[in-house]
Formats: sequence, C-alpha cells, structure tokens
Amino acid sequence: MTNTKLYDVVILGSGPGGLQAGIHAARKKARTLMLGRMDNSSLYWAHIENYCCQFTISGEEILKTGREQLRNFGAELRDEDVLAIEPDGELFVMRLESGDEIRTRTVILATGSSRTKLKVPGEKELLGKGVSYCVDCDAGFYRDAVVAVAGCRSAAAGGAVALTHFAREVHLFCEKLDVAEGLRRQLDDTGVQVHEGVKITEIQGVTAVSAVQLDDGSTLPVDGVFIELGAKGVLELTAMLGVRLDDDMKYIVADKKQRTNVDGVYAAGDICGPPLQMAKAVGEGCVAGIEAATYAKKQAEREA
Ligand SMILES: Cc1cc2nc3c(=O)[nH]c(=O)nc-3n(C[C@H](O)[C@H](O)[C@H](O)COP(=O)(O)OP(=O)(O)OC[C@H]3O[C@@H](n4cnc5c(N)ncnc54)[C@H](O)[C@@H]3O)c2cc1C
Repeated sequence: MTNTKLYDVVILGSGPGGLQAGIHAARKKARTLMLGRMDNSSLYWAHIENYCCQFTISGEEILKTGREQLRNFGAELRDEDVLAIEPDGELFVMRLESGDEIRTRTVILATGSSRTKLKVPGEKELLGKGVSYCVDCDAGFYRDAVVAVAGCRSAAAGGAVALTHFAREVHLFCEKLDVAEGLRRQLDDTGVQVHEGVKITEIQGVTAVSAVQLDDGSTLPVDGVFIELGAKGVLELTAMLGVRLDDDMKYIVADKKQRTNVDGVYAAGDICGPPLQMAKAVGEGCVAGIEAATYAKKQAEREA
C-alpha cells in the first residue's frame, strides 16, 4: 500500500551523521523519518577509541543506543533504502525499497561513503578483525605488529608512513607507486617495505587476519591489512536532485549550515568528505538537523 505521508525532515542514512541529524530535528518537533540499514553504516563494524568522552565503544553499541534515543524523541525509523528521489514543487518525493512513496519538505543526505574494495577472498569476512579501510582510525591497534597496506596513491603511501609510528613492520603492496617525490622519500626514511608490482590475492585468517597471499606465489604473515584505495562516492541520488559535487565528483559540497546548492537539501557526514570520522559526522548532523527543521517550519508557516 502506498504511503504518501508528508514529513518535515527525511534523513537518508542511519549512521552517526543521520542519527544526530534526526535527534536534533525531532527535538525541534519536526516530523522526522530516518531511513537506511544500521548494518550498512561504516560504524557498525568499528571499535571506537577516539570519540570524545568514551574510552572504547563498539560502533554497533553506539548505533543501537542512537536509534533508541531517536525513537524516544518521536522520530520514525525505517530499515530500508531510498531508490529514487525527485523534486515536486517545493517538496521532494521518494520511492523506497518497499515500494512506498513519501513526501518531505527537506532532505538530509547522510549516506556515508562506501570505501573502494580490494575484492579479494577474506576481505569481507575479516573486516573489523584485522581488515581496515582507515589508518587514522585503526593504526593504534597495531602497536608492535606486522601490517600490510594495499594501494598505490598518496592515501596508501601516507597511511603506510603513519603506521610506522605504531607497527614493527609495514609492507606496502601496489602495482605501480604513484606518489610525489617527497612522499616516496618518506617511505624510504621510515623503513616502509615497498613491494611494487606485487598484488594481494587473498587475506587469510579464521578469527583474525593471519597472513596475505601474494600473486608471486608467496605468503606473508601479517596482523592487519589496510586497504587505502580511496573513498568511492555513491552519489547517484544526488544526481537525481541536481546536488553539486566537488571537482573529483566524490563528495557533496555543503556550506557551514550543511546546505547544498538545492534549497531544502542538506548533507552531513562522510558524504561531505574527509576526515571520515564519527565526530565530524555527528557535528555536521547536528547542524543539518537544526537547519532542516527550521527550514521546514518556515515553509509550513508560509502555507498556513
Ligand atoms: C573499520 C572502520 C573503523 C572505523 N573506525 C573509526 C574510529 O575509530 N573513529 C572514527 O571517528 N571513525 C571511524 N570510522 C569511520 C566512521 O565509521 C564514519 O566516519 C562514520 O560512520 C560516518 O558516518 P555517516 O553517518 O556519514 O555514514 P555511515 O555511518 O557510513 O552511514 C551511512 C548510512 O547511509 C545508509 N544509506 C546508504 N545508501 C542509502 C540509501 N540509498 N538510502 C537510505 N540510506 C542509505 C546506510 O545504510 C548507512 O545507514 C571507521 C570506519 C570503518 C569502516
């Protein structure tokens, strides 16, 4: 059955950015709906130890608490994705996975940024158990360990250099290193072992990463694998709305009020670009939630 209910604020994404946006919008008494699957949030598999006022906490725990908090403030939550979205006068119409159609005065895009995968066996199974896409987040877990980094550009090379502050041995695997001379020198100076022309073909381990299989036939025992191929933008929905992206077509351009170039459309979190960190997603979500609720209220007052 089609649901054509009108919301003040609809949030695409149920990660920390979306949750914080929802909390602030609902607290301002806006009719708020948050969409998206909890276990698709990058935070779901993470263990956080760099978030203010928490020593260590699992991402899953944060997300579960956030959802409960959001419901308590009167927002609706639906565990489904948006398939299509288009402007309809001053409103927006969305089609959901379930086939339902909804209308809203404002949209907050908080769909995160899916990281480019290496696409080798073991990568998915060992995510959060030694496989990571974020050196800044997880380097501290690899003190005195042996780690591999996959990638050819500055994200991988810079990540490998940063890892040398923690790990005992850092191996960088790339087809052809493509970095500035200064960064290449840093790799030498910090003792990163660069394996140019060698690819990781499998990540091995049962409960945690134990080794990488390489395409030259050898196996290297490691404690962790960092995949730093750059963040891939999943921004098809923004194209439907005409939302402006940055020059690399990866991230949404938003101002200090988290407004995009389209009236009534806001963005928050990883989808707005680095640093891809929870603290930033939460801060931007707060601003987007308040701004969207205020915008919706003014629109409704004009109509009354
Ligand atoms: C292994 C790992 C470890 C990490 N460790 C840390 C750390 O220690 N500290 C730290 O600060 N950060 C860490 N991060 C980064 C952190 O998880 C992200 O910065 C944060 O989750 C971004 O929040 P977000 O709300 O922007 O996006 P996400 O949390 O990624 O949420 C995106 C949401 O959008 C939804 N979505 C996607 N497409 C659609 C659609 N079409 N319709 C509806 N919903 C959609 C998804 O279902 C998901 O709910 C880590 C990430 C990973 C992967």
